[in-house]
Amino acid sequence: METIKEAWSGILEYLHNLDDISEVAFKVWISCIEPRTIEDGEVVVYVHTNFQRKIVTQHYAARLQEAFEKVLGIPLGIKIISGEDGGGPSAAASAANAPEEFPDPGNLFGQKSSDYEYSFENFIVGSSNKFAHAAAQAVASKPAGYYNPLFIYGGSGLGKTHLLYAICNEIRKNQPDVKIIYTKGEYIANELIEAIGSGSTPEFRAKYRQVDVLLVDDIQFIAGKTSTQEEFFHTFDALHQANKQIVLTSDRPPREISTLEDRLRTRFEMGLLADIQPPDLETRIAIIKRKAQLLEINISDDIAEYIATQLKSNVRQLEGAVKCMRAQYLLEGEQPSLITAQNAIRDIRNDSQPVPVTVERIINEVARTMNVSPDDIRSTKRSSPISQARQVAAYVVRSITGMPMKAIGQEFGTRDHSTIVYAIQKVEARMEKDPSFKGMVSDIVKNISEK
Ligand code: ADP
Ligand code: MG
Repeated sequence: METIKEAWSGILEYLHNLDDISEVAFKVWISCIEPRTIEDGEVVVYVHTNFQRKIVTQHYAARLQEAFEKVLGIPLGIKIISGEDGGGPSAAASAANAPEEFPDPGNLFGQKSSDYEYSFENFIVGSSNKFAHAAAQAVASKPAGYYNPLFIYGGSGLGKTHLLYAICNEIRKNQPDVKIIYTKGEYIANELIEAIGSGSTPEFRAKYRQVDVLLVDDIQFIAGKTSTQEEFFHTFDALHQANKQIVLTSDRPPREISTLEDRLRTRFEMGLLADIQPPDLETRIAIIKRKAQLLEINISDDIAEYIATQLKSNVRQLEGAVKCMRAQYLLEGEQPSLITAQNAIRDIRNDSQPVPVTVERIINEVARTMNVSPDDIRSTKRSSPISQARQVAAYVVRSITGMPMKAIGQEFGTRDHSTIVYAIQKVEARMEKDPSFKGMVSDIVKNISEK
């Protein structure tokens, strides 16, 4: 019998051509399925998360089965396993998919990826990032001596977190006594909600106000969260007045974070704003070579250049390509070549299709922003703040995942699909009338899609 891998492209083609599977649904739910084995009349396929498995099982298992029967000519059962059950992704895909390997906040020592240190030395400088790099170095050499705050912004995967870590590592090396906190906007928001819940806001305050250097990654996550912004505002002022260094990163400049309070925006802009742009070709080649060197794999100039011409907008992808080629080398003994580079690029392009965002993440983000609990959103409670949050969550799920209304209904208890249609219409109507509400929803959408 044909192996499942050989049959797979035919299966994908068949599913892609079905009228009742939209382009978006195909990209989000089908293209991420990995074929595994055919044994005892059963096809085993793999997806990363339990949530994906649930959706694929509910909506696409029958179509998959039909596709196998059409392509292989025999009826087979379908079993869908998920990585969260310990199925484990394939090595190449997991290298390309590797999540950010950063430590928890509070763990301030030895920040590095699993392979090398996020240092200034390992950061390749080009025209797209030299300003941000120079500003970060200045801050690291003399905290609170130059720019305060330093606000670094730019698209995903362009090196913001790397620079933040480099600042942290450099200060640690030269001034081990300096107290540093590295955290993320999202953690601050969570921490504060917990602190408010357990009546421990004084501890929260004390913790942040005793530092010499506060580094907050992805500060855009505090947008729209009133109590977090309030608290952060006071922390910011206290530190700033005490001449302590603050460095912030974000995927966009302060003026484009719609639901950022004006007084915070003014403060974020009062030091130095430094943007990072996507790297040019030369810088991309240099980055690939440096990553290859750090990951101890030999990639020729030609191949580095080839990868750099194919993957343009995101350094994380360049690194992913190098890691993928290394995985192919370590697992299958294949030396880096144009062919392994092409495979790596293809995997990465597939991976960068819209990431299947989980409904859980959306609910959490909406809950955090709108100050209700995730459980409330999933409940049938009808108080006004809760049902508004539920409607926003339904709207965001629909606009990000393109999930069918019925499936969204199932995610929100047993609500039938007309309730979801109504919820979405209500949110749309309010967005038209109320610019600040619209800003809040678009911040939520951006925060979730940018991760
Ligand atoms: P961001 O925080 O902007 O989303 P990261 O700092 O996480 O991006 O960078 C993604 C990956 O790309 C990291 O592994 C980082 O080391 C690498 N990277 C980004 N920019 C550079 C650069 N200029 N030189 C070397 N590596 C880089
Ligand atoms: Mg980052």
